[in-house]
Formats: sequence, C-alpha cells, structure tokens
Amino acid sequence: MLLLPNSPEFVFAFLGASYLGAIMTAANPFFTAAEIGKQAKGSKSKLIITQSSYYEKVKEITEELPEVKIMTVDSPPDGCLWFGDLIKADEREVPRVDIDPEDVVALPYSSGTTGLPKGVMLTHKSLVTSVAQQVDGENPNLYYGHEDVILCVLPLFHIYSLNSVLLCGLRAGSTILIMPKFEIGLLLQLAEKYGVTVAPIVPPIVLAIAKSPELEKYDLSSIRIIKSGGAPLGKELEDTVRAKFPKAVLGQGYGMTEAGPVLTMGLAFAKDPFPMKPGACGTVVRNAEMKIVDTETGSSLPRNTPGEICIRGDQIMKGYLNNPEATAATIDKDGWLHTGDIGFIDDDDEMFIVDRLKELIKYKGFQVAPAELEALLLTHPVISDAAVVPMKDEQAGEVPVAFVVKLKNSEASEDEIKQFISKQVVFYKRINRVFFIDAIPKSPSGKILRKELRAKLAAAFPTSN
Ligand code: ATP
Ligand code: MG
Repeated sequence: MLLLPNSPEFVFAFLGASYLGAIMTAANPFFTAAEIGKQAKGSKSKLIITQSSYYEKVKEITEELPEVKIMTVDSPPDGCLWFGDLIKADEREVPRVDIDPEDVVALPYSSGTTGLPKGVMLTHKSLVTSVAQQVDGENPNLYYGHEDVILCVLPLFHIYSLNSVLLCGLRAGSTILIMPKFEIGLLLQLAEKYGVTVAPIVPPIVLAIAKSPELEKYDLSSIRIIKSGGAPLGKELEDTVRAKFPKAVLGQGYGMTEAGPVLTMGLAFAKDPFPMKPGACGTVVRNAEMKIVDTETGSSLPRNTPGEICIRGDQIMKGYLNNPEATAATIDKDGWLHTGDIGFIDDDDEMFIVDRLKELIKYKGFQVAPAELEALLLTHPVISDAAVVPMKDEQAGEVPVAFVVKLKNSEASEDEIKQFISKQVVFYKRINRVFFIDAIPKSPSGKILRKELRAKLAAAFPTSN
C-alpha cells in the first residue's frame, strides 16, 4: 500500500512493485487511521510505503495488523524499513518474475461518491490496454510527445492520475511535472516556470483557474491541452476557459475506476484534432465496444436517446475486491460493464453525459439532472460554486434544491437566484429552495459529495427527507 502524496517515490514504488508482480493499492494520505486500516485489511496489504510524517498514523494500524511492515521514503524511524535501500537495487540481482496478463497489478478505490469506496481489481492487461487505447496508434486520442510537459496535480492514488496522467505520459516519453497538492497560486507559477503543455484536471480545478484573479499575472501560452474529466463540466464554464486560453484546446474525457478508467476521450486531443462540441466528452476509445441501453428493459437504444452507458473491452476491471455480488451486478454475463451513468451518443459519435442514474431527481414522471442546474447556477455573477440535490415533496415526490457559495463581498437573495433559474428552465427543473453555504463538499477526484448535502437536508428537515 502506498500512503504518499504525489512524488517521484510514488512512481518508483508503483512501477517497481508491478515489475515484481506485486499488487499496489494507494490510499488517500489524508484518510484517518481507521480508513487506511480498513483498506489495508481489505486489500491484505503486506507493506505500507509512506513518509515519516504519517508514521504515527500507520503505526496505529499495524498494531492491529502486526504482519504488515512499514517503509518510509524519508529518514526512517527506528525499526522501520527505508526506501533508499531499494534505490540501490541496480547493484543487486533484481528477480525476474513471470507475470500473467490476467494478474491484478493495481487496486484503486472508487471515489465513494455514491456509497463506500469499492476496491477495483485492474490487471496488467487492463492497464496496458487502457494506456494503448489513449496514446498509441496512428491517430491517438491523446497525442502526447517527448516535448510535452504534463501537469500531475491530481492525486496519484486515484486512477485518473495514475493511468491517464502518469502512465500515458510515461508511455509517450513526456515530462511529468509532479505537484504534491493542489494550490492555485503555485499551480499557475509552476505551469509558467516549467512550460506546462498539457493540463489534465477536474472541474473544481478548471473552476479555480477560470475564476483566479491571479491568472493575468502569468504567461501560460505553453499550455496546448486542458483536459477535464471525473465530473461534469458545464458548457458555460467551458466558454469562460476557452476565452481565457484562446490558444489551448479544452475538452473532456469520461472515465470510471471500473473501466480502467477511460471510456471516451476528447477528439480535440487527437493527432488529427477536431474541435469538440460544447458539453461533449469525446468518442469511445479504440478497441472497445460501447452501447447505450434502456435502464428498465436493458435493450440497446438508438443514437441521441439517453440511457445507461455500457462498455466492453480488455481494459475493464476483473471485478470488485471481495465482492462477487457487486461484480455480478456491474459486469453482465456477456462482459458488458454497466456504468450507472446516463448519456447519449450523437450523430457524430460524440458522447454526452446527462448524469448518474442514482443522482437524477425524480419530479413526478420527469427526471432532472443536477449537473445541468449546477452549470446554470455557475453562470450567475455572484455564485462561485453550487450543488443541486433532491428534497422530498408531497406533491412532486422530489424537487431540486440548491446549495450555493457566494463570491466574497457579494449579495444575492434566495428569490433572486430562484428566478434566475426559473427564467431559463421548464417548470419541473425550477429550484425550490436555495441554501447558502461556505463550501461545496468535494472528493479529491473532483466530485460533488451530494450524499453529504442530502444528509444536511435530512438533519435540517427531518420530516421531508
Ligand atoms: P463510487 O462509485 O464509489 O460512488 P465514483 O463513481 O465517483 O464513486 P470514480 O470511479 O472516481 O468513482 O468516478 C467515476 C464516475 O465519475 C463516473 O461513473 C461518472 O459518473 C463520473 N464522471 C467521470 N468523468 C465524467 C465526465 N467527463 N462528465 C461527467 N461525469 C463524469
Ligand atoms: Mg462509481
């Protein structure tokens, strides 16, 4: 288990472990000892590679799991293994291990947006296939080269960063600029200093860049690709970023841990690029099959009709760790992975994601996608961030309500915001209540944690939620 911030040691440890046929699982270093312990136990970790500042936390875990060894990447506390000893490995005989493509190599955890994070078994074949689907071939979806400098600010413990940033960048022979944590000022400064050409990010970072008052201070003309993924990116936010980075292409990719993770990738990043339509998430990766199915009958739907996105190919997971029931509910007998996401494919093969099936708000017979309302809210001049969740309603079943963060020193009333939305949407999408809040809870992979907001509502309105 790696319990490290983004760092060169993370990369060496992962690649070294995979060479030896080991399985790597990485935990969020900010997790509590209990959370890390659960992952260590579930994954049957034998060794935790960490840094001395987390040593006490890790020690707590190993008291319960005495067989687990600890290694630190910096000066080791007494009795602890030291990573530096491994770096000298070229002086020794490195064992050669027979590895089967079907062997598990990485055990990333899903973000836990809709429930508990799930351990996802990815094999050597899944990762190699997924990387090839993105960067190999005549006209790769992600056209990276030696001269590219790829920003690695997304946490490497998440599969987006591990696969689509690190492994794809290494495969293409690019330079990877590793940032241990996200901080907007530092990001802009480093991007200028090192001439970042590719910025793979998530919507909250896109938002932070677009709204940063410091942006003008830096020359970021080296950036040629801004790639968003992991969560919906509103069309309006896309427009703002395009205006601020006229020379760069902005587009989206769509991924899911279980899918290895990339399902679709923006056409704008290809060797023969073409501009993406606003809101599009690209086209399905090569050597994979995709279909959109009716959520009730399971039958395939025609183009332009929203339904559940399903994918099949060598890149998808082997299954969930210790959870055959969940695996069987996600991968059907014909090998199709059911994503739980609703989307449609248009006449030009481009994917548009509506929202997660689980998060659609059900207003009588209508379905309301929180993502659409969130994107509209963000266009309001005093709103810096927003999230939409369902609230129980006697008449309608559920109605959309919004949590809103106001820009500093600005004013807007609940009524004003409600009217701002009502003017732009059909009656059943109207926002019923607006709650002002200091910050929208988000996961490190950029997702709104709506379950936390729903819990807040349930606590405040016990009878209606
Ligand atoms: P959990 O499965 O534990 O509830 P999670 O689904 O958020 O968490 P991840 O595997 O990190 O965990 O995220 C995958 C999900 O992220 C997808 O199923 C999809 O809902 C969302 N997603 C990814 N990329 C995009 C995108 N470009 N636009 C909209 N949604 C996206
Ligand atoms: Mg998921």
